[in-house]
Amino acid sequence: MVRFTVLASGSKGNSAVVSGGRTRILIDAGLSCRELFRRMKLAGEDPRTLDAIVITHEHQDHINGLAVTARKLGIPVYFTEATHRAWMRWLTPRRLMTYAQWLEQCRRQQAERQAEIDSAAVPGDHEDPGLENESAGPAVDAPAKSAGTPAKPAEEPHEAQSPGLKDDPAWLPAVEYFEAGQPFSIGDIDLSPFTIPHDAADPVGFVFSTEGIRLGFVTDLGYITPNVRAQLKRLDLLLLESNHDLEMLRDGPYPWQVKQRVLSRVGHLSNAAAAEFLADNYDGHAAYVILGHLSESNNLPDLARVAAERALAPRVSLLTNRLILASQHEPLFPIDF
Ligand SMILES: [Zn+2]
Ligand SMILES: [Zn+2]
Repeated sequence: MVRFTVLASGSKGNSAVVSGGRTRILIDAGLSCRELFRRMKLAGEDPRTLDAIVITHEHQDHINGLAVTARKLGIPVYFTEATHRAWMRWLTPRRLMTYAQWLEQCRRQQAERQAEIDSAAVPGDHEDPGLENESAGPAVDAPAKSAGTPAKPAEEPHEAQSPGLKDDPAWLPAVEYFEAGQPFSIGDIDLSPFTIPHDAADPVGFVFSTEGIRLGFVTDLGYITPNVRAQLKRLDLLLLESNHDLEMLRDGPYPWQVKQRVLSRVGHLSNAAAAEFLADNYDGHAAYVILGHLSESNNLPDLARVAAERALAPRVSLLTNRLILASQHEPLFPIDF
């Protein structure tokens, strides 16, 4: 049996479970681990049966509970390499650099400074370069260790240690890389990742195929590119972003810059853009069309529904194009094939 369950969808957290054969995959982990498990149980899914987590992109509403969930379950996480790097940067910003990285930076800065001094032919009487530009001080990931930080770290490089695995916020049980445009498999499920236009490092949508069923999953995209259009064919289920109503966004509470970001070619898909795709480019094949990632500030479920219903009206039947709205606050009922 193939099953698809949306656990949460929206700017405060996204996650879904797809299962087929003996394989279960969590798509994004945008809620806390605790909340993810709670919702899985509500939806009749056992978190312990998950085999892997796949990540669409590194925005917080897609990765919030990632590290804790992956560690708790001891399962691999599938990223593109750029998304993994961006996620690590998000978790370990500059002030959290490891001691080894800090030493390296000290040496580099000292060398640069020395070169400057040499070229200017001025006698050097400089301060410890490592402390000069670092108001936050040395690695703060392990306070006990930083208490013993030598004043001149370069003298004792052998004491430079990366933090232990458990101290590293970016540590995961296993990391697997995939590339957009390169299909791959996790157990019994085939995944076809494709690039989407969004302001993240390397964002993707997916088509999941298992037991002859095809599920399309695409949110967080500024517009529907010809390639996205080509991927979303012959689906049995489509989860499509219907983020905002254009007028509500225009007149709504967001600052001007944020409105521009949402509206941009790397922002989010409006109700009108989703409806336009459903009316003009969608092949009408799916049994279920789920609207997702609805904005709570700039959309109303009824507006999204009516726009999509109008677009699908010529093609709705008892067996096809059943329209469902995914929610931010509760899991959707599991959809079985
Ligand atoms: Zn998002
Ligand atoms: Zn995003």
